[in-house]
Amino acid sequence: MVAKNETERRLEANRRALAGQLGEIDGMLVGSVVVRSTRCGKSGCACHDDPPTLLGRYTQLTRAVEGKTFTRYLSAEEPARYRPWFDNARRLKEITAKLEIASLHALEIDRSANANSPIPGGDATRRVTRRRSTLRCA
Ligand SMILES: [Zn+2]
Repeated sequence: MVAKNETERRLEANRRALAGQLGEIDGMLVGSVVVRSTRCGKSGCACHDDPPTLLGRYTQLTRAVEGKTFTRYLSAEEPARYRPWFDNARRLKEITAKLEIASLHALEIDRSANANSPIPGGDATRRVTRRRSTLRCA
């Protein structure tokens, strides 16, 4: 193992800091929150007037899982109460993206420090990032 220089130490510290931030995430909610009003089935109801007076204010959480859309009702105050968990979903995405880039960077530095590790097909970074979440370990 080659002695670490200043840049490598800084990059490693950055990587560890990112990994540490992952441990701060204690909950996560994904999806979009919408408030909907609706019509009922009764003719003569104001919800069928023109213009209609729609019924209720339903707060819904909609999320897509493997191409299917799932919806669940939330109480009126739940979106605000769970705001931090919705924020965490974005934060997690950000942190994992940064961590992936930092890790690829470390991999490249390791390889360039080791002359016996040719990079198959040339530019490793471009090949990996093209296949978004597929990181293979040999
Ligand atoms: Zn109605």
